[in-house]
Amino acid sequence: MSLRQFRCDLHIHSCLSPCAELDMYPRAIVARALEAGLDIIAVSDHNASENTEYVIKAARGSRLTVFPGMEITSREEVHILTLFEKPEPLAALQEIVYRSLPGVNDENAFGCQAVVNERDEVEFLSERLLIGSTTLSIEEIVETVHGLGGAAIAAHIDRESFGIIGQLGFIPATVRFDALEISRKTGIAAARRMFPDLTGHTFISSSDAHRIEDIGLGSTIMMLEEPTLAECLMAFEGLRDRRISE
Ligand SMILES: [Zn+2]
Ligand SMILES: [Zn+2]
Repeated sequence: MSLRQFRCDLHIHSCLSPCAELDMYPRAIVARALEAGLDIIAVSDHNASENTEYVIKAARGSRLTVFPGMEITSREEVHILTLFEKPEPLAALQEIVYRSLPGVNDENAFGCQAVVNERDEVEFLSERLLIGSTTLSIEEIVETVHGLGGAAIAAHIDRESFGIIGQLGFIPATVRFDALEISRKTGIAAARRMFPDLTGHTFISSSDAHRIEDIGLGSTIMMLEEPTLAECLMAFEGLRDRRISE
């Protein structure tokens, strides 16, 4: 097999995120991702992952690969994007996250949190306070994710709110992120100039879409052999010619 280009948008919310629009149901996400020319997407709702299996099902038979993921809010109010190859380890992480996530959602204040299957049917509405922070530290989250074989990425580091640099002012030396995410407004080239101290880190860019039309507006081109998370992790490290086009 030889290497080829994959267009990846690894940070997309679904209608399970209270702040995302209700038209972000699994089938619509897949249709828009294909329209946008994406090869790989990840579904990453705030502290929740119930819609990931349905987006994977909705993409079955298409050329789109879907990684199950979750955007976890640490107790420092830092967003960490987590990605997995398969649903099982994510389910284990979900249990830990729910044990560490207090509160009940106020739908009028924060929005509706719908679990919708691949046939556009509402399975249930989540009553958890998904917009809240977990009691898990950044270190605990990254270590747990790595222990489960997943990837841990500091989300939108260029954003003041919920980005690690906005919250802490720096990236702790004890935390080993697989990559740092740059939001689509900034882009990787500008981020390289903004963060000269982070030269040694891998940057990716994603849409962080909360609206259907935003899917693919941020993306990362990777040279991979096949669309797997293992290949993406090699690209993050520049191993065996796998790489990210900046
Ligand atoms: Zn975020
Ligand atoms: Zn997000």
